Amino acid sequence: MNKSEFKTFLRSVPKAEIHIHIEAVVSLAGIKKMYKNRFGKEMTKEEQTELFSYNDLNGFIQAFLKVQDLFISEKDFNIVFKELEKYLVKNGISYCEAFFAPSAFIKKGFSYKKMVEIFHKQISRIKEKHGITIKLLMDVSRTFGCDNAMKNYEMLKSVPCEDIIGIGLGGAESKGPAKDFAPVYELALKEGYKAVAHAGEDVGPESIWDSINYLHSQRIGHGITAIQDEKLMDYCVQQKLPFEVCITSNTFTKKVVKLARFHPIRKFFDKGMLVTVNTDDPVFFMTTLLDEYWICSKSLKFTMDEIKQLIKNSFIASFISDNEKTEYCNQVDAAFAKL
Ligand SMILES: [Zn+2]
Repeated sequence: MNKSEFKTFLRSVPKAEIHIHIEAVVSLAGIKKMYKNRFGKEMTKEEQTELFSYNDLNGFIQAFLKVQDLFISEKDFNIVFKELEKYLVKNGISYCEAFFAPSAFIKKGFSYKKMVEIFHKQISRIKEKHGITIKLLMDVSRTFGCDNAMKNYEMLKSVPCEDIIGIGLGGAESKGPAKDFAPVYELALKEGYKAVAHAGEDVGPESIWDSINYLHSQRIGHGITAIQDEKLMDYCVQQKLPFEVCITSNTFTKKVVKLARFHPIRKFFDKGMLVTVNTDDPVFFMTTLLDEYWICSKSLKFTMDEIKQLIKNSFIASFISDNEKTEYCNQVDAAFAKL
């Protein structure tokens, strides 16, 4: 199958994406529009180039914060969800668990309640129009310390919303060790929220161990430095601990892998780890979920049967009910039976 045939087929297969940041689905056109609203002038070519020039995780985080800075009111989230809708439809994604990071918006004075009202309205609209389910995880953020993360979590609790199911921990991994955030995770899990954490993206396997031991994280975001620790990989196989792998994102931030064909997802999968395929930040890393599966096929030599398993893994690793998991996995089997 060539790339175009592969993508056409794969688009028709129901898929889940469980590691994607909503602010990072705003297209360049959307970013330019928001820039104009914010500053009353056009974004220059130089500014565009500068925004997208980063070569490590911290550089990327700065770019992410710059996009967040373009928001002038809660209403800008309507743009975000329209872009997310387009992205999900284009990639044939039926179920999505996405991160949103409120810290920068709250600092600007946005109302969390108003943000949640827009999230709910848009998520319901997308569900009704396309049958796509979106659930959100609040990235409580490791960049601004534990007190800020706790405040975010308290905000989450103060405005109950069926669309927001738990918390995540993104941001500068080298500056915010997982164990600092243990009190937030302990509370969230005790109170029935889901809890995941980025770990082993920019820091070694000890960061993944910390997320397991101190945060009791239910999934690991990225987790690529697990490749340096056989014991950890064995543990993750035994525990069926899901990994939200983002191949292109990792080759951009260049911590462990510089080329997709050397990405550890191949070894993780072969060892029996529960790995899933995601984009992280599709616009920033110039990728889509269909592109990521193509990379698995072309550069990492996953067979179509293995791709089918990867697709099912995303549903299995998600926070939907067991019945829904079975239902989606049956749909994946049915779509592949037509191949
Ligand atoms: Zn991420």
